[in-house]
Amino acid sequence: MAETLVLIELAGAKVKGASLHAITLAQQLGADYALLVLGEKLDPTAEALGKFGASSVILADHASLGEPLADRYAAVIAEISRQNQAHTIIAASSTFSKDILPRVAALLDAPMLTDVLGLEPVDGGTAFRRPINAGSTLALVKVEGDRRVLTARATAFAAPAENATMKSPAERFEVVEASLPSDTKFISREAGQSERPDLTEARVVVAGGRPLKDRETFERLVGGLADSLGGAIGATRAAVDSGMVPNDYQIGQTGKIVAPELYIGLGISGAIQHLAGIKDSRIIVAINKDPDAPIFQMATYGLVGDLHELVPDLIEALGRDSK
Ligand SMILES: Cc1cc2nc3c(=O)[nH]c(=O)nc-3n(C[C@H](O)[C@H](O)[C@H](O)COP(=O)(O)OP(=O)(O)OC[C@H]3O[C@@H](n4cnc5c(N)ncnc54)[C@H](O)[C@@H]3O)c2cc1C
Repeated sequence: MAETLVLIELAGAKVKGASLHAITLAQQLGADYALLVLGEKLDPTAEALGKFGASSVILADHASLGEPLADRYAAVIAEISRQNQAHTIIAASSTFSKDILPRVAALLDAPMLTDVLGLEPVDGGTAFRRPINAGSTLALVKVEGDRRVLTARATAFAAPAENATMKSPAERFEVVEASLPSDTKFISREAGQSERPDLTEARVVVAGGRPLKDRETFERLVGGLADSLGGAIGATRAAVDSGMVPNDYQIGQTGKIVAPELYIGLGISGAIQHLAGIKDSRIIVAINKDPDAPIFQMATYGLVGDLHELVPDLIEALGRDSK
């Protein structure tokens, strides 16, 4: 029985790379940890997860868990936690964990902390660092009791080391469909198709703001520059609200948190809510026609000018260099 359970997220049949970073938080907590995966036809997944030092890989493998319905997933995770007498449940921060883990915390009557960035010893126990006020302030928080449900910001924890020589044993949790909640039903899924890398895992992110004006210009300039660099595209809320891109491209306080090697912001003012999503990027480049735009205070490199003139030149120069 493991004290800590790390919930792993899947994208179809594949493990989501960012969700593995939660394993590093489990390792830092020091107790035995098991990895937990819910879904259908999970044998290949168990194989892929065997090399991360877990005491076991627990599989809740059943046709009724083929889609991540939050009420069903929460009931199964809470039951597995009870059976293992687990103290801590961890997942990487994502829409998936935001949907499911608060329900798990409620079912277990356990306190929950989101977006954990790191640990510190305090008064003989462990305190958790996490952002508040859109990331402008960090709080150090201790939870009472020995049980807790946590989400870890993937960008704050390195990917766990792989040990090819070890193999965690797989354990199967017996799913009894009749005992699962059935108030919600899965109807259909609409997923955007993109050849570009996932925004939260990309090494390069190019993001666009309000002055991109329409879908075509956004795709030509933001998409064109991203493709020249093998990067992902992102956007501000202003760009999302005006219909240039769907809202899963939004970066920031109410969008995704990114920490690429290189972030390039095109026509982005640098509102605190957007900066909250990019501030851990290694190099930040901003192109803005206003020299006083707040984004320049955070940028590693800034270019003052009209993006409609500068970006086509950049795309052309990158194309020439790659030939
Ligand atoms: C509760 C709350 C949550 C929010 N969450 C988010 C969030 O998660 N993510 C987010 O992004 N926002 C969020 N916002 C909105 C945020 O406050 C800003 O309104 C938004 O980020 C601004 O987007 P923008 O930079 O594209 O637009 P603007 O602020 O309008 O900036 C446009 C910039 O483009 C420059 N520009 C104009 N024309 C050109 C040109 N031709 N060439 C070069 N530069 C040019 C201008 O100088 C300006 O600096 C949130 C707001 C609230 C209240």
